[in-house]
Amino acid sequence: MFDMISNIFKNLSSKPATRKYPFEKRETFKDSRGSVKGVDIDTCIFCGICARKCPSDAIAVDRNSKSWEIDPFKCVVCGVCAEVCPKKCLFMDEQYSASAYSKGKNKFVQQPKPAEEEPGKVSA
Ligand code: SF4
Ligand code: SF4
Repeated sequence: MFDMISNIFKNLSSKPATRKYPFEKRETFKDSRGSVKGVDIDTCIFCGICARKCPSDAIAVDRNSKSWEIDPFKCVVCGVCAEVCPKKCLFMDEQYSASAYSKGKNKFVQQPKPAEEEPGKVSA
């Protein structure tokens, strides 16, 4: 009985064992893999290596439409895509993804460069 009362007072006067997330977030540490931040779409060459190496099939690359898409709800944050990218244009974020109310994909589309907009046009 005495042990129980002493434990109750000890727990009441000590800090909680868990954080009050999301109000109190844990500091990230160097090289932690929180999430895939995205792609520098202007540097991407749409080779598709990241999509082929992704173990959870979370990335879709379309060379024709010059689009790169990731499903963050499939991603297991292994970091392989960023490691194998030959252009090093894929980036990891140390921060974990925030909770979400609905599922969605993140799509990046490369905009045509000025010379590509009008084929045959020679810039002055
Ligand atoms: S971090 Fe891993 S699971 Fe996530 S998109 Fe990249 S290769 Fe796929
Ligand atoms: S590996 Fe890199 S360059 Fe190739 S499609 Fe993926 S992001 Fe683009």
